[in-house]
Amino acid sequence: MFQIQNYINGKLVDPAGNTCIDNYNPSIGAVYSRTPDSDERDIEAAVEAATRAFPYWSTKPAQERARYLLRISDLIEGNLDRLAQAESVDNGKPVSLARSVDIPRAAGNFRFFATAIQHFASEAHAMEDTAINYTLRPPIGVVGCISPWNLPLYLFTWKIAPALAAGNCVVGKPSEITPMTAYLLSELCIEAGLPDGVLNIVHGLGQKTGSAISTHPGIPVISFTGGTRTGATIAATAAPLFKKLSLELGGKNPNIVFADCRYEEMLQTSLLSSFSNQGEICLCGSRIFIERSLYETFRNDFVEQTKQLTVGDPLSETSRLGAVVSKPHMDKILSYIELAREEGGTILCGGRQVQVEGRCRDGWFVAPTVIEGLSHTCRTNQEEIFGPVVTLIPFDTEEEVVAYANSTPYGLAASLWTENLTRAHRMAGRLQSGIIWINCWMLRDLRTPFGGMKQSGVGREGGLEALRFFTEPKNVCIKM
Ligand code: NAD
Repeated sequence: MFQIQNYINGKLVDPAGNTCIDNYNPSIGAVYSRTPDSDERDIEAAVEAATRAFPYWSTKPAQERARYLLRISDLIEGNLDRLAQAESVDNGKPVSLARSVDIPRAAGNFRFFATAIQHFASEAHAMEDTAINYTLRPPIGVVGCISPWNLPLYLFTWKIAPALAAGNCVVGKPSEITPMTAYLLSELCIEAGLPDGVLNIVHGLGQKTGSAISTHPGIPVISFTGGTRTGATIAATAAPLFKKLSLELGGKNPNIVFADCRYEEMLQTSLLSSFSNQGEICLCGSRIFIERSLYETFRNDFVEQTKQLTVGDPLSETSRLGAVVSKPHMDKILSYIELAREEGGTILCGGRQVQVEGRCRDGWFVAPTVIEGLSHTCRTNQEEIFGPVVTLIPFDTEEEVVAYANSTPYGLAASLWTENLTRAHRMAGRLQSGIIWINCWMLRDLRTPFGGMKQSGVGREGGLEALRFFTEPKNVCIKM
């Protein structure tokens, strides 16, 4: 069985304890590889290697660091099919999605930050003829990057690339549920000639390997993406150690549809924002609010088209939804559908596990599910399900729908469909979300601030925000 290894100090190595955990292919419901069950000894070795590499890497001119990142980006592109296949097998997502979104974006992350760092400048504040201040932004040191399973290589590289570009060295931990493409990335970094210790990738469980990162005194910065509860644990650990923290957490995003929207475009995009990646994208709009005059038309069309989405083998080009990531996650999704029934909801379509024929018969698949008849305050509409499950709720006024949309503890993303420009601007100001899409969804410009409000996170990633996060502002004041 294939054995994934850690990448420490430029070498592929087994974990110190020589123990491993099973890695599942969710589309066949079986173990297909083994991943290191690393502990604090492996993190210690990674921190030592990163600390040794830091003086060399941080003082390289930005153009030279960028050259390595561009080489890695090219190698990711050159291995597009292999990486897309690996991501699909490991995560359950359709290979077509991995090929068109996940892997190109991973290459794009390296390319974007390789060039961004060469344009990164800092501020100067002149005090007329008294003094001048300028702000230096040196890299900080060894940074910890911890990422989730839903967009494995995409989100892992979204952290690593700006951290390295800014001159830091990295100890990264991908999710133990989807470690494969991070492992393949370590092979590509070796091929790219990335100097030893600059990037270290240590695999293992969150509470063991992840926690060894968040408690390590030699890692003063943590960039974390994952669940809100895990974010709270990391924040509680990191706060007394005065670590700099970026937390990208869960969501329960509203998708708000006014009757004056461009209907067909809204309908097709809403199918994507509901069910792409089996609904396992933090930005998916899981609560759809529809203006009452359009409600019935929307419900009928949306349910009709949802029923036509093919759930099947992720390696088949015709599958629109693949497997969900794990058996425990499938059970969680199904238990929320059960909860929706108990709370009085009507399941309009889906609502069950799907048995796929052939090689995927033991896989973990869930039918795209549409539910109506629930209040915005019930648990189904307040808690993150993170699967192919959406609810439909009618509304009458703008006032009412803003209150519904803002009623959860989360505040990551919101979509709004209307042709009324004044209303769009007004609502964008009132919605409690870090990201607001008007007449679109998932339209991403990597320069924009990315992140959530309330329990969806602390801080922002993307563009200059990321480069600022991974550097330490130091003001120098010179008296004239
Ligand atoms: P998770 O919190 O269980 O795990 C995320 C990562 O944290 C994994 O690598 C895990 O091993 C690690 N981890 C777990 N416990 C830890 C601990 N005590 N200390 C340190 N590390 C620990 O999340 P998940 O189930 O992998 O991902 C799904 C969640 O991620 C959802 O809530 C989703 O909304 C969220 N997410 C958010 C964004 C965003 O940008 N806001 C993007 C993608 C996913």
